[in-house]
Amino acid sequence: CPDKVILLPVISAGCPMADMITAHSLIQKKREHPGVPVVSYVNSSASVKAESDICCTSANAIQVVSSLVGYDTVLMTPDKNLARYTQRFTDKKIVYWEGFCPYHDRLTAAQVKSVKDDHPQALFLAHPECRPEVIDLADEVKSTSGMLEYVKKTESREFIIGTETGIIHTLETQNPDKVFVPADKKMICTDMKKIYLDDIVKALVTSSPVVKVEEGIRVRAYRAVERMLKIPRD
Ligand code: SF4
Repeated sequence: CPDKVILLPVISAGCPMADMITAHSLIQKKREHPGVPVVSYVNSSASVKAESDICCTSANAIQVVSSLVGYDTVLMTPDKNLARYTQRFTDKKIVYWEGFCPYHDRLTAAQVKSVKDDHPQALFLAHPECRPEVIDLADEVKSTSGMLEYVKKTESREFIIGTETGIIHTLETQNPDKVFVPADKKMICTDMKKIYLDDIVKALVTSSPVVKVEEGIRVRAYRAVERMLKIPRD
């Protein structure tokens, strides 16, 4: 949307996982895998998206990879855990970037087993950004939006939540009769907590800081996002 003004109230509010790859390093990786399509998670910079063939979210990664008909190998960036989760559902070989979300990747199988022991009736919901051994313990693997939808429609009343703990406030608000336990109380993304209401007011009053993307990057990044938007979600 080149005609729209995009404000980011606190310019340092980023994503440590997105910072684990640059366009330059992706170009080098692509040289190692000529002709292999690149699927980049939306948690990536515009310049990384511009070097990608298509984007994906945690809700549609499997469908996006399946849509790449005629390719036996796919390169996924930047999240190795989402790539390894997607690998479970495809015969294509997924080569992946060694990035990860520091908050999802910190959750261990031992922690999950311990919380499950304390809450034997609870269903464990894991996000695909979690490690494979954590995914193996999940009753359901869901994106953030997938968790919100699933909890509403299931009859279970207690859940262990394996994702950034901020979702628990929304889950409790939408489901006051259900109980939510964080798999790890320290799954708190400090970047996601950087913006306060005051910062938003200030950004709206001053119309700054403005996010600017170079036109050449914008056009190519948008193409990767647009291709993704044509793929149905789960
Ligand atoms: S929780 Fe934070 S670090 Fe992890 S993917 Fe989200 S924004 Fe990035």
